Amino acid sequence: MKNRLKAWLDRGAVATGVIPLLEGQMRRGLTVLMYHRVLPDELCPGYPLRSLVIPVSAFRAQVELLSKGYLASTLGTAVNSLSAQSERRPVAVTFDDGYRDNFEHAAPVLEEFGLRATFFAATDFVGERQLMWFDEACLLFEALGPARAQGAFPHPFRGEPASPGDWMQIWKELTPAQRDEALDAWRDARAQEGAAAPLAESKYAAMLPDHLRELHDRGHEIASHTCSHALLDQLSPADLARELQDSKARLEHWIGAEVPGFCYPNGNHNGAVRQAVLDAGYRWACTTKSGRFELGGDPFLIPRLDIAPGRVLNDQGQHDAARFRAELCRFHEHLQRTRR
Ligand SMILES: [Zn+2]
Repeated sequence: MKNRLKAWLDRGAVATGVIPLLEGQMRRGLTVLMYHRVLPDELCPGYPLRSLVIPVSAFRAQVELLSKGYLASTLGTAVNSLSAQSERRPVAVTFDDGYRDNFEHAAPVLEEFGLRATFFAATDFVGERQLMWFDEACLLFEALGPARAQGAFPHPFRGEPASPGDWMQIWKELTPAQRDEALDAWRDARAQEGAAAPLAESKYAAMLPDHLRELHDRGHEIASHTCSHALLDQLSPADLARELQDSKARLEHWIGAEVPGFCYPNGNHNGAVRQAVLDAGYRWACTTKSGRFELGGDPFLIPRLDIAPGRVLNDQGQHDAARFRAELCRFHEHLQRTRR
């Protein structure tokens, strides 16, 4: 459905009382919001993976809305105090990956409105400042351009991928070994250009360990998102255990406190992965599956709502209260269910 039609529907659903009704049902469980990056407004239009970025002005308006009428806490606190029906609508704000903007732009806004969030950090990204593989892929794609990127890609692919988003669908289907091979191929293609400008890595910077410690000291929650952001259902049992244990130990060392929370990169999990998370000493874990977490639900499969700009902002990329509220109470999921 086109965004404009959706926005029109959302406003109607607020006015006719449908959204307020669904919002009332939010008191039956916990609604977990998933964010990745919050960037200054002027940096958002040119960002390659647009679905991951919310402009800071819209984020501020969203947080202000959450500070009124919702019971916002860190995810760990919310999971531990979950009840069958609470007085206010429980919500938890989460951030994946560990980007520097979480510390620079998101945390100050949250604190301005008295909110605290949960930050899932990949420890190689924070500790070694290794670029996330998908950010490096975007930078290489930007440098190579569509034609040379296609020519240098060493695996078969369908269609005519023209944007970083198109490519991401292809990259995500590769095994870790194929992905390394493809990254090497694009690196080689770029190296053949000779003295090319260095990749603009700073826009993909991670937080530092000290930032995590500071966030923890200010009342936020730090949780694990593995070491390397590996897709866990593709790993051997030994590599899986290492990703889970090493990231936990490292985060605990950095912040000086226990880290009970975990988040599956890209949401990839299966029964063996879930069991390994439990065995590594975590007490809860998040997926990327949409839904609300209710009493009696599996704490190792906590669903979340993806607060993607295409779903919550207006056509100009600005905050739209009706659209944001519609996402939080899952209005469009309800619509689809009633249409079936
Ligand atoms: Zn992630």
